[in-house]
Amino acid sequence: MPFSSLGLSPALLRAISAKAYLAPTPIQTAAIPAALQGRDVLGSAQTGSGKTAAFVLPLLQQLEKTPFESPRRVAALILVPTRELCAQVGEEIRELALHLPRAVKVSIVFGGVSINPQMMRLRGGTDIVVATPGRLLDLVQHNALSLGSVTTLVLDEADRLLDMGFTEELARILTMLPAQRQNLFFSATFPAAVQALAQTLLRDPVRIEVLPAPQSAPDIVQRAIAVDAGQRTQLLRHLIQQNHWSRVLVFVATKHAAEMVADKLRKARIYAEPFHGELSQGKRTQVLADFKASRLKVVIATDVAARGLDIAQLPVVVNFDLPRSAVDYTHRIGRTGRAGESGVALSFVSADTEAHFRLIEKRQGLSLPLEQIEGFEPQQTAVAAATAMDGTPIDSANGGIKGKRPSKKDKLRAAAARGQ
Ligand code: AMP
Repeated sequence: MPFSSLGLSPALLRAISAKAYLAPTPIQTAAIPAALQGRDVLGSAQTGSGKTAAFVLPLLQQLEKTPFESPRRVAALILVPTRELCAQVGEEIRELALHLPRAVKVSIVFGGVSINPQMMRLRGGTDIVVATPGRLLDLVQHNALSLGSVTTLVLDEADRLLDMGFTEELARILTMLPAQRQNLFFSATFPAAVQALAQTLLRDPVRIEVLPAPQSAPDIVQRAIAVDAGQRTQLLRHLIQQNHWSRVLVFVATKHAAEMVADKLRKARIYAEPFHGELSQGKRTQVLADFKASRLKVVIATDVAARGLDIAQLPVVVNFDLPRSAVDYTHRIGRTGRAGESGVALSFVSADTEAHFRLIEKRQGLSLPLEQIEGFEPQQTAVAAATAMDGTPIDSANGGIKGKRPSKKDKLRAAAARGQ
């Protein structure tokens, strides 16, 4: 089904084709006509399904039909859990609104940065607010905006909004909205709290469930590479240069590691930047913008970047340090292979992390061969890494995996290697 049969205006169809969206995704096919008719929508969909455009396009079409008023009044409120998602949704709105007959003013508000520029931007009113709940309430308290004219409320990633402890803020915001409004509700999962919220909010919603269909599952090639821990930076450098990767997201365990690895790559003239929770918001925004605009080739990130980030055409993700859990592994590798593109996810596995990797693999139902790269063959074995200074094997290092417990021969070999 083409976009043109969903009932969208020519100005929006032009913006869609400029973004090179060829056909609507399943959530768009189902949600756009329903939302255009003014119905409430309950969408069960993951990030990557195209859900942002599914709610942005009907909002914009509604604005297109509304006569311009000065000062502007908030017509749509979009609540999201994180600053990064705020920025992404804002960008999608700006791009899709590009050809509308009148300029649409979008205000992005989130905490962790000075409130003053956000208050300034809200002067003269705004058409759409994309917000995290806490900062939105601060702004309302400062009389920087009023929510009394909202005709559409969008809750994006409702499950994460609740997970992140925004329940009370949400309840307060809901009391400020007109009772007569359209509600578009999206969540990846539906635990009891999310279902209860949906029930209080929505009136006779159109229910849409988009299961990740096997044919639309991301096309991600997963590889595991055996390498000594101390050789990982050199291997990363080698792989980036040899494969001419245009854009790489590398995950590490700590902010210190992010700074260190980025620093070493820069010394090798590979333009890399760290990305972690202790950078200022300004710096984080700039790193992301540079990365998206291809001014920056490598980002070395902690798990702060693993959720919610959407970078089109990110061909490679590297687990320099392994994630703590199988769930984190899924989030990390999900940064590549988005929107029908293919991607590669590499995990560096060293002797002391092999057992942990095998556990992640097991939880993922995977079985990956441990590859070796010429010139970077590991010298350390799991046994050597798992052997304490006095030669006693450390049980936890083999993760209790059958067949990995060092034999008597292994212990003798380890002792010989230490020159005993
Ligand atoms: P979302 O689920 O909204 O985060 O969207 C994930 C990615 O899919 C974003 O990079 C969008 O730009 C892209 N996208 C959204 N709709 C389409 C479409 N119909 N065709 C191709 N890409 C799309």
